[in-house]
Order: sequence, then structure tokens, then C-alpha cells
Amino acid sequence: LTREGFSTVPDVTWDDVGGLDHLRTELDDYVVNPIKYADAFEKFGKKLLETGFLLYGPPGCGKTLVAKAVANEAGANFIHIKGPELLNKYVGESERAIRTLFQRARTSSPCVIFFDEVDALTGRRGREGDHLVVGGLLNQFLTELHGGDRRDVYVIGATNRLDVIDGAFLRPGRFANLVYVPLPNAYERVSILKSIAKKRPIDPSVDLDAIATKYCEDFSGADLANLMDKAIHVAVKEKIQSSKSSEDGDMNLSDCTIKMTHFKQALS
Ligand code: ATP
Repeated sequence: LTREGFSTVPDVTWDDVGGLDHLRTELDDYVVNPIKYADAFEKFGKKLLETGFLLYGPPGCGKTLVAKAVANEAGANFIHIKGPELLNKYVGESERAIRTLFQRARTSSPCVIFFDEVDALTGRRGREGDHLVVGGLLNQFLTELHGGDRRDVYVIGATNRLDVIDGAFLRPGRFANLVYVPLPNAYERVSILKSIAKKRPIDPSVDLDAIATKYCEDFSGADLANLMDKAIHVAVKEKIQSSKSSEDGDMNLSDCTIKMTHFKQALS
């Protein structure tokens, strides 16, 4: 497994996530609370989530972010793994990687495994010759998912390609909870832009509502984050230019806010 296979509690919180309220409620109920209140669930006779969540939808709309926020909220470790990283041309290696992954998750439980690009494991896509490897890998994965010893290990899968996911993945006990994570609507774009803006020095005159609703149609969350980055670059560039043209050449850092003009330039 690569560096990404190591587990830590992520620093992303629900505060960093804009929109996606329905997803938050569902994941709080079915992942966060069972980890946080494991004792209560056990008393009521429920030991673990019997089935995994599969988040699907266009890229850059918050699937990874949400999975991290879930782990943070639950105080759980987080392992981020991408489907293609598990594909290995040597017979048995991919299965071993899956076993190692789940073992690592168990030793650092409670743990959330975030399985990105899970479609790579289903064998319908992929390079020629992959199908042999993928068959064994899929079986190993399903064994681990079903395994009796999965206490406090929660699996959240993600894909941009629900159409290529093997039906075997979607049965009860596997990834039976399918949740669509769509492109944000205007209202959600405002919420996302505001959550991205929280940690930035935005000038009070900036109308984030107007930016998100009027100028960012069809933007994903990642596009909005990118817009913010660009606006910062424009603002810093302006500072550099004004310091170069000032008499003493000093940079005046008394007013370092991101203004509407910076957003407008970033948009253009
Ligand atoms: P992919 O399918 O390509 O893996 P994804 O759906 O997992 O994409 P993320 O990695 O969660 O997308 O989002 C990329 C970046 O876009 C985030 O790090 C964040 O900066 C921003 N972003 C996306 N969605 C949201 C959101 N709902 N709220 C706040 N920021 C968001």
C-alpha cells in the first residue's frame, strides 16, 4: 500500500463541508453515531453497520471531504485508498493488499476506510488482462466486507462511474446504501463558497451569495475552491505590483483582504 494507506484522524470537519445536508444526516445516523455510541448500540443488540455506503456522482463534489468529516466527527482513524492502487499484475498480490488494508484498519479501529475509484475493482473496466486479478480481488474484498471480524471498521466507497459497478457490489451487506452526490445547486454553491471562505480574509463588501448564484453556474465544489485560490493569487499579485511601484519598495500588508475585484478577475 502507498503512503495514502496509513491511518490518522483527518482534520476536515463538517464545518468545512458546504451543502450535502441529507448526506450528513444519513452518515451521522449510520456511521458516526454507531462509532461514537458503540456501547448504546450494542446494548440495543446492534453491533455494526451491516452494509457500506457508496457515494457516487461527478468529480469534485465533496465525496472525499464528507468521508473525512465523518471520520473526524466520530474520532475515528481514516484510511484513503484508491481502487487502482490495489491492482497488481502478480497473482495473489492484490488479495494480499486487501487483507493488509483491512488488518491495518482493524488494528487502528475505530476506522473508516474510504475506497475511492471503487469501480476499478469491479472488473468491467480496466486494462486488458486485468480481469483475472480483479476477480480474486473482488472476492477478497467481499469476504472482508462480510467478515465476522469487522467490528468498528466502516467502509465508504466512491465512484464517478456507477454504470460500470458490478451488481455484486450493491447487494445487502456490501455497498447497499447508494447515495448520489450531485453538482451543487445555487443554494448549495453559496453554502460551499461560504464554508471555503471561512478560513480566508474576505473583505466584508464581497457578496459571496451573488458570486455563487450568478457567476458560478455548473461549478462543482472543487471549481469553487479553485476560484477562491485564483482570487487569492490575483490579490497577492496586486500587492506585489503595488509594492514594486511604491517609492520605498515595501509591501504594505495592513490591508490583506480578498475583494470583489479579485473574484471578478479570477472568474474572467
Ligand atoms: P472525486 O470524485 O474526483 O474524487 P470528490 O467528490 O471526492 O471528487 P472532493 O475531493 O471531496 O471531491 O472535493 C475536492 C475539493 O473541492 C475539496 O477538497 C474542497 O476544497 C472542494 N469541495 C468539493 N465539494 C465541497 C463541498 N461540498 N463543500 C466544501 N468544499 C467542497
